Amino acid sequence: MHPKIQAMIDRYGITDAARAFLEEEHQLYIDGAFVEAAAKGRVPVFEPSTGETLTSIAAAGKEDVDRAVAAANRALEDGDWAAMKPRDRQRVLLRLADLIEEQAQTLGEIESLDNGKALGPCIEMDILGGAELLRYMAGFATKIAGATREVSAPGCHFASTRKEPIGVVAAIVPWNWPFNMALWKIAAPLAAGCTIVLKPAEQTSLSMLYFMKLCERAGLPKGVLNLVTGSGRVIGDLLVGHPGVSKVSFTGSTEVGRRVGATAGRALTPVTLELGGKSPMLVFADADLDAVAASTRWSVFFNAGQVCSAGSRIYAHRSVFEDLVAKIKQVAEAMVMAPGLDPVCDIGPVISAHARAAIASHIGKGVADGARLVCGGDDMSGEGFFVKPTVLTTDDNRLAVVQEEIFGPVVVVLPFDEEAQALALANDNQYGLAASIWTRDISRALRLVPRIEAGTVWVNAHDLVDSSMPFGGFKDSGFGKDMGPEQLDHFLRTKSLWIAVAQGEE
Ligand code: NAD
Repeated sequence: MHPKIQAMIDRYGITDAARAFLEEEHQLYIDGAFVEAAAKGRVPVFEPSTGETLTSIAAAGKEDVDRAVAAANRALEDGDWAAMKPRDRQRVLLRLADLIEEQAQTLGEIESLDNGKALGPCIEMDILGGAELLRYMAGFATKIAGATREVSAPGCHFASTRKEPIGVVAAIVPWNWPFNMALWKIAAPLAAGCTIVLKPAEQTSLSMLYFMKLCERAGLPKGVLNLVTGSGRVIGDLLVGHPGVSKVSFTGSTEVGRRVGATAGRALTPVTLELGGKSPMLVFADADLDAVAASTRWSVFFNAGQVCSAGSRIYAHRSVFEDLVAKIKQVAEAMVMAPGLDPVCDIGPVISAHARAAIASHIGKGVADGARLVCGGDDMSGEGFFVKPTVLTTDDNRLAVVQEEIFGPVVVVLPFDEEAQALALANDNQYGLAASIWTRDISRALRLVPRIEAGTVWVNAHDLVDSSMPFGGFKDSGFGKDMGPEQLDHFLRTKSLWIAVAQGEE
């Protein structure tokens, strides 16, 4: 570990368990054991607030992916998991949720160092939110049921449907919510009785490596959850197209999602794609402007703007436009940038030097295209990958800075005059992940909800999530849902059962 990171850890303090974990040589987790990758390559892991090397992870290759998929198939067909009653499967998952809670501080510290995010919200939302989802899904383990049907076919039949686990799931997650997104991907298939090969993002694999220790303690049988780390291009592709995989569940960018969808399509493997976004916030003249501005702390700048559903396009009625821009500027300028472990941190660094450069380039292009820079957007060459909260304005909806996902703490505010125009501007985008409407006029809100092309719509709020509410996009934001009962269906296959009933002798 680099001395600068060591000094930071000493300054803020972390648990002994987190310290010990960071000193380990991180391996893969296959068939109930930590194992070396066959190819023995390593991928460096950077701590984003210093930009220095934190540790490294194993670079899995084809042989490792084959081993992991084989272990998952064995666990599905044979062994403790396959034989487990729903009640016992539920117990294991509930124990695991308890262990997450018990280890939330350690998991949060590992996550914060790996990803850069502010520790307090990370524990509250990423880690404890993950435990809550696991509990919610564990409840379904004992409620999966087929149905008997009265059929009209000639003769006499007992007919029913069976819900069966779909098989081995390849779960692939991004780096912006490493622990939380992984739980979004694994909780439902585990409840359904599936087995999993999980691939975290190469930038942020540490919290899930630590989580595997908790799985062992909870009594999750071997082979049920396997973890392969390394390059997405190498092992991601191998996993998605693997003949031993029965379902692909992917969260990440639209660009990679298209590729994943094509590979899964060729293999005829069902796929769920949770992809990028550029979510609009529609602010009408009667909206509570202070509430809108205050919400941008979470709806726009939270997690350094690296949130798929961030409200990164704000359309404000022209009569309140300047007022709202001034209020958002105030919020943005008051946010404290600091390492995630620092208790004063409102906004941590972005994930990498590459991400920071890409964000700087988006802002530069926006300004060159004619957008007005209200605040932020400067000072991007220092140590650590920090980006100041940045506010731009324009009246041109077709600018790249309005149309493209920037995935940083950057918001563009645009004026509108009429309701119909606001709707058209909001829908004029390739993405359809989420949207929010800010108005005191409930009829207006209810008129707009069905016409907004987004998988989630909030009214007078933005970025609320709950285990019971399905989350997933329309258009280029993907298809399928995470969370809610809807997600469980992705991991169950339906078998129709017919039994001919012999009629008694005359
Ligand atoms: P990414 O697409 O670059 O990577 C996501 C995952 O895919 C990583 O684990 C990566 O290693 C893997 N991968 C890369 N190439 C692959 C390939 N060819 N085959 C299979 N897997 C491959 O995305 P990212 O930069 O890690 O994450 C940011 C993106 O994720 C943003 O676009 C964001 O909007 C999106 N996201 C969406 C949601 C949602 O619920 N819709 C949630 C979080 C993040």
